[in-house]
Amino acid sequence: MVKIPVPISGGKDSQTCLELAIELVGVGHVQGLFCDTKFEHPLTYEHIDFIRDHYRVQIDVVNAGNVPDKVRKYGRFPGGGARFCTDELKIKPTVIYAKALATAQGGFEIWYGMRSDESTDRAARYKDRVSDELYTPHEYMAGKYPKYLARMGVMVRLPILDWSKHQVLHQLQDRANPLYAAGFDRVGCFPCFASGDVHKERAFGFDKFGKQQKVIALQLEREIGKSIWTSQGGSQRNNPDQMCMICQS
Ligand code: SF4
Repeated sequence: MVKIPVPISGGKDSQTCLELAIELVGVGHVQGLFCDTKFEHPLTYEHIDFIRDHYRVQIDVVNAGNVPDKVRKYGRFPGGGARFCTDELKIKPTVIYAKALATAQGGFEIWYGMRSDESTDRAARYKDRVSDELYTPHEYMAGKYPKYLARMGVMVRLPILDWSKHQVLHQLQDRANPLYAAGFDRVGCFPCFASGDVHKERAFGFDKFGKQQKVIALQLEREIGKSIWTSQGGSQRNNPDQMCMICQS
């Protein structure tokens, strides 16, 4: 049976994409894929369980390490063009997963919950894309996905590319990750080290878990000799486009 894998992060866009796929093709033809960075908030892990139970959908969990170890490996925090944690914890495991699935069952579509209006970066990146087209994985994300996936019949669809934030929240009603209700605009690692300082400060002060994450971040600072903070109130301080495209969907 050909299934549609939907990468999910615990965020509202990927959940909407999953929900849409289930509505359109039936839950038996859909499977979620959660690439665990081992750096998510407990509410996000609980939310992944909620998604599995609520939709009665198969969710495959893959893990290729954790964010602190990637920071140690590269000797820096992610940010700007350096998204080594996304590459190694999200994209590479997805490629391995897709290759294995294509080998086992032949070609299929991956549905990604990307939205153009999520950020100016995404609007620019997807300006020539439309939601009812199929793209090869290497067209979707050049330099990240190998061309052999397309030769194996793997294609990418972006079903909610044109959806607004309002449409997504309306679709999910009260089924979104509770971190949104707590005031977080985006969900991913807690915090995303590549995000602006305001987001990181907020996460570190949010709750007991956030405080524990701050201890880890300060320990990493000492180990690599670099600051977790990227600004002194400058233009990058609260730049939402700094956040990871894959991780925050
Ligand atoms: S959410 Fe941020 S810290 Fe986590 S993997 Fe993505 S870029 Fe890295």
